[in-house]
Amino acid sequence: MRIGLGFDSHAFKEGVPLVIGGLKIDHPEGLAGHSDGDLLLHAITDALLGAVSAGDIGTFFPPTDPKWKGADSTLFLETAIEEVALAGYKIVNLDCVLIMHRPKIVPLAEKLRASVADLLGIDIKDVSLKGKTPEGLQQDGTAVAHVVVLLESIKLPGEHKKLAVHAEAPSDAEIDGVVGSLVRDSHDISALGRKVPAFDPGDDLT
Ligand code: MG
Repeated sequence: MRIGLGFDSHAFKEGVPLVIGGLKIDHPEGLAGHSDGDLLLHAITDALLGAVSAGDIGTFFPPTDPKWKGADSTLFLETAIEEVALAGYKIVNLDCVLIMHRPKIVPLAEKLRASVADLLGIDIKDVSLKGKTPEGLQQDGTAVAHVVVLLESIKLPGEHKKLAVHAEAPSDAEIDGVVGSLVRDSHDISALGRKVPAFDPGDDLT
């Protein structure tokens, strides 16, 4: 098993849509950022990448690159999901904390959990989301997200067990079989139950 921690913050800004957890939320202000400012998806992306030691969101999507201006943050999440699968892991559960003065998160929590679960291809029961207000922090103009994610290794096929219990050295054919299955499985992301197609780099992100 592996654990990952993600953090993000964005300032509120008038005149931009508010997007949290992939959902557009009706609110007079949105979150300023190079992308769509979806701090929850950014923190989840960083937690996933961190759990497999694959860097962070800036490694893959540098804010200096104009290509990512106004980008849909689900694209960032997709990349993190793929990195997790390539490393041979799947998500067990995640726990998220959103800290903001407005809007109140509690009335939105179920929708946000459902959206995140859908984007990650996991059950809603495995997505926890807590809303907090920044009492005493004097940061009413800022939204903050903390996320912890737990991953577990994708179960390997039975072949590898044969190697472990063999009294004698495995044959070349057995080794080839195991290596082949490992390579295949480490690239098989179907275990994550993804519902959306992989990002098409030809998409216009701006
Ligand atoms: Mg961010």
